[in-house]
Amino acid sequence: MSAALVDALRAIVGDGGVIDAAELGKRSAGAYRFDTLKAGALVRPSSTQQVSEILRWCHANQVGVVTHGGLTGLVHGADAAPSEVILSLERMRAIEDIDPRQRTATVQAGVPLQALQEAVDEHDLAFPLDLGARGSATLGGNAATNAGGNRVIRYGMTRDMILGLEVVLADGTVLSSLNTLIKNNAGYDLKQLFIGSEGTLGVITRLVLRLREKPLATNMAFAGLDSFEAVAAFLKHCDRALGGTLSAYEVMWQSFYRLVTSAPAKGQPPIGQDFAYYVLVESQGSDQELDGQRFGDTMEAALESGLIADAAIAQSDQDCHAFWALRDDVGQVVQGGMPVVFDVSLPIAAMEGYVDTLAETLSNEIGEHRLWVFGHLGDGNLHVVVQVKPMDYLALRPKIEALVYRPLAACHGSVSAEHGIGLEKKPYLYVSRSAAEVALMRTLKTALDPKGILNPGKIFDLDPAAGTSVPQAPGSAAS
Ligand code: ZN
Repeated sequence: MSAALVDALRAIVGDGGVIDAAELGKRSAGAYRFDTLKAGALVRPSSTQQVSEILRWCHANQVGVVTHGGLTGLVHGADAAPSEVILSLERMRAIEDIDPRQRTATVQAGVPLQALQEAVDEHDLAFPLDLGARGSATLGGNAATNAGGNRVIRYGMTRDMILGLEVVLADGTVLSSLNTLIKNNAGYDLKQLFIGSEGTLGVITRLVLRLREKPLATNMAFAGLDSFEAVAAFLKHCDRALGGTLSAYEVMWQSFYRLVTSAPAKGQPPIGQDFAYYVLVESQGSDQELDGQRFGDTMEAALESGLIADAAIAQSDQDCHAFWALRDDVGQVVQGGMPVVFDVSLPIAAMEGYVDTLAETLSNEIGEHRLWVFGHLGDGNLHVVVQVKPMDYLALRPKIEALVYRPLAACHGSVSAEHGIGLEKKPYLYVSRSAAEVALMRTLKTALDPKGILNPGKIFDLDPAAGTSVPQAPGSAAS
């Protein structure tokens, strides 16, 4: 099979376009991974036509296809089996068109996010999607996972920035839906099916993206707060007082702030380390003087009314970078142990109780550990990190997952705010989706990919007999 597979792929993309299984064993499996790629072969098409021919061949021969972008995903959504083909879009990196008047960009799916950000900047425009992996993550991957990131509160998720898509279906059919209009209600909006589908319904090959005017002024502050109630009230205060210019509202619980502002971390604390909560506020507008005045007034009013206990306001671009660097220094969680990283969503009203209860159950159930909480609070999205000793990691991980995920059902939260499901969160999909919802997902999957060749086994099992029960915490008295 393997030799026939490699020959067939070479016939489509040429000798240099195929990497065989032995060679693949030298390539990393991706961000935060210690293993290497596994697959029957990796194929690198350079055009939509070649993607179509590859899929037609794989469809006819019943070979699974796992599409790869920048390999920055965190949920094992791009893992392949030895019998499957990895379809990498690394050769499809053309920014085909930037239209400053229509404010759209048309790109191939393999373009890295940062490359587009820089290209549109030259036209005084912005593509406002932004996340830590911007240098490697591709726009096709951002769309396939509906990536979130730092400015969702202002611009929405990737879904909200996509006007059109070109997608190759499982049988090789090219669905060209390269719409450039903001308003287009002519029947079903088919592109939405593929956004966030994690490569299970089609292969995204080109995108039309919505651009925005480039912000000309940025103001930032780092505030310390004494209660969670104040954190929620300060969000409303900022959103109202900043007149539509609020562009980020990132929160850190005290332990995370201390982690990223104490050695061995390089960050310096902008304010004291004893507040219960810390908020990074960013406002992006059009006039540094006017916006700066309004931003300063907003912070002053919050201080005077006692909403915030202290604040440092950025005085320069360097200060802004330093503030963001604290938020982005998530790598510190690997110091001194093994982290289990979560990406959950829940209503703001339920957050404080959820985190307090989690801290308590972790202490009772798993013994020695460290817990850090931070995230995009303005979007209801928290990143929870539980660090344990490396020797305990494998044994404790399933228990920690159950303790983090199961309580989300009661508050109608989500097991995945922005990272997706992949293989990692598959057992917990039913915390956040009903049996009827997953049944309709199966119906769509079967209609679009009847042979089940696209990213097999990800998100949910095709067989309804796999059940809908959510795993219990192993060895736990609580349920
Ligand atoms: Zn995030």
